[in-house]
Amino acid sequence: MDRGTVFVVGAGPAGLFAARKIASAGYQVVIFNRDVKPGGLAEYGIYPEKHHMKQGLRKQFTKILEMPNVTYFGNAPVRETGVLRVGDLRQWNPLALVFAVGAQGTKKLGMPGEDARGVYSAKDYVFYYNQLPPFASQDFSSGRRVAIVGMGNVMVDIARWLLVDMPGEKPEEVTVVARRGPFEVKFDEKEFDHIEMFLDRQVFQEELRRVDERIRACNQDISQVPEKIFPWLNKPATAPGNRRLSFRFLTSPVAIEPDANGRISKLKVVENNLVLEGDTTKAKATDKTTLLDFDTLIFAIGDVADPTVGIPYAKGGYVTNPDTVEPDRAAYEVFDAQAGKVLEGHYVVGWARKASEGLVGKARFDAEHGVDFVLKYLESAAKKLSATPEQIARELARHTDSLVAKQDVALLTLAEEAKARAANRPAFKFSTNQEMLAAIQKEKEGSRAIPKAAA
Ligand SMILES: Cc1cc2nc3c(=O)[nH]c(=O)nc-3n(C[C@H](O)[C@H](O)[C@H](O)COP(=O)(O)OP(=O)(O)OC[C@H]3O[C@@H](n4cnc5c(N)ncnc54)[C@H](O)[C@@H]3O)c2cc1C
Repeated sequence: MDRGTVFVVGAGPAGLFAARKIASAGYQVVIFNRDVKPGGLAEYGIYPEKHHMKQGLRKQFTKILEMPNVTYFGNAPVRETGVLRVGDLRQWNPLALVFAVGAQGTKKLGMPGEDARGVYSAKDYVFYYNQLPPFASQDFSSGRRVAIVGMGNVMVDIARWLLVDMPGEKPEEVTVVARRGPFEVKFDEKEFDHIEMFLDRQVFQEELRRVDERIRACNQDISQVPEKIFPWLNKPATAPGNRRLSFRFLTSPVAIEPDANGRISKLKVVENNLVLEGDTTKAKATDKTTLLDFDTLIFAIGDVADPTVGIPYAKGGYVTNPDTVEPDRAAYEVFDAQAGKVLEGHYVVGWARKASEGLVGKARFDAEHGVDFVLKYLESAAKKLSATPEQIARELARHTDSLVAKQDVALLTLAEEAKARAANRPAFKFSTNQEMLAAIQKEKEGSRAIPKAAA
């Protein structure tokens, strides 16, 4: 049954699970993905050592790509100013467009010195250590004293990388800088288990005493921190003494001072008070500032949507229908505020809709829920004759010779698995597009070279 074609932009968990649901309803699905490989942050964000989880997700993604009515174009970013624009997609006449491009924009605080060397966004940094091109080949050097701003699971992943798995010389001191206090940590206990052995218990207790009076203003009691938030405090640290993890609470960065080489050397911070607003605590800046010594600073404060994709964008996100009659459906519909109407047939799902919100399961739920509205729309939408995947491939091939099809992804997987086996490692990744494309080519030539009888 061919009911027409829907385009999905982005092949992270949201895009792939959306594609599966649309394809299962009998539509052709054509996916355009920026990266060579599918998977998005499941491939390039989730911690490298979580092999089991990554492998499980890859298997599910492979099955989705194997669906006969799903076409994949990797290495095909959709950008306002690129080879492939939203306008091009529309010319191919899809019944609907589902944007699942994740949150690829960087949240900037707009403070002086933000562009100094050694200052990174967590997204770029995790892309780097998960080997996503081009980040994998860029300078993400860290020094001896690293600050990570934020208290979520991404902070824990980055601290874990720096203290445990990073090859070469590791930092001596990783400091978590947080605008609120110990009761507002956002990470999961089982994630922190990977780094608790580095937590300097004595320094942590001193820090609790430093902020005691200010958090007491919100009826928080530091004596409950070990019991309620940091159970690890009840046992000694076991990590080698030359690497330690500490926290600096009620602290917000306000400026970065670079050294003579343009690398961060000091972070100016402001001390915060903690205030209660309704049920939630808020950080309120005082006028007291302090200079802290750091040679590396990583912002793990969440991301925003990428403004360059070419769909309506405002305040860090794609604009969705403000309609309050059916807010659930409206929240997935892309809205043209200038024209004052919905961009018909354009939808946004996953982290593209709500940046940095939740784990893979949540992105999947969001995508599948969004697709319910897409499918409903398609029931009454005008029928259209869309370009076929072959026509699209031919058109794209006029502009680029490095498109990646789903068969190519399978060949790349074979090449990377062979490399992993040869190196006796659980996984291997090529870290440039050139290497990936060359490996695909080599696999193609290899399979052509096998005599028919042996194949
Ligand atoms: C550091 C980190 C660690 C995490 N660890 C875990 C974990 O352990 N467990 C867990 O369940 N979840 C984890 N998550 C969360 C999980 O990765 C996300 O919930 C999920 O990946 C979001 O899916 P998404 O498809 O919306 O976005 P993404 O995964 O970001 O996928 C976006 C896709 O869109 C593509 N794209 C981007 N721009 C364009 C464009 N212009 N044109 C075409 N394609 C484009 C990208 O190539 C990518 O394939 C982690 C997230 C981070 C940041």
